[in-house]
Amino acid sequence: MGHWLFQRNCPLCSRPATALVCPKCEADVASQPYSSAVITSVGLRVYVWGTYRDRLRRLLELLKYAREPALGDWLGERVGRWWLNRGYPRHGYWVAAVPIHPERRQERGYNQAERIARGFSDRTGLPFYDCLARARATPALHGLNPEQRQLTLHGAFKLIRPVNQRSILLVDDILTTGSTLRACATELERSNCTSVEAVVVARPAFNRSDR
Ligand SMILES: [Zn+2]
Repeated sequence: MGHWLFQRNCPLCSRPATALVCPKCEADVASQPYSSAVITSVGLRVYVWGTYRDRLRRLLELLKYAREPALGDWLGERVGRWWLNRGYPRHGYWVAAVPIHPERRQERGYNQAERIARGFSDRTGLPFYDCLARARATPALHGLNPEQRQLTLHGAFKLIRPVNQRSILLVDDILTTGSTLRACATELERSNCTSVEAVVVARPAFNRSDR
């Protein structure tokens, strides 16, 4: 039982697990893909993997607030596997993460969207391209309507590498109104990229902001 010492508990159900997530939780998380591409109200095509609820919701919360960066790699790999199974493009996209502010990154230890994006990139073979940064900190968007979000996010992102003639696939953890993705896309489009689309891990089943 020498391996026993190296076991840890599954972060989702607290049962002992030899893998990052125990097989039961893995099956649960992987069994609920949303499996669709949606056009958001901000005019952006977003590929959505799962629904923001139950274990997947818990997993995303742990990734964001509990210093569990490996869960981001794990999720990115899962989404990448789904991407390939769905027959989505294996070439032509450059993968970029929605950036967080350096201060938040320091608090958290990593950018969760970047961990997902890198896991996704490793799995799909679509190259990771670090081209966006936060130009300034923005307050939390929670509770703001779409117009307020747009104002808050205006000029929040800046380009740090050229994107001319590239098709960018933005990666983020959760899709709510799409305002953040839109703000990133606007910055990319101003710099003559060919196209911008996005892939996210999860979307709430009922999006209050859409009503
Ligand atoms: Zn578990």
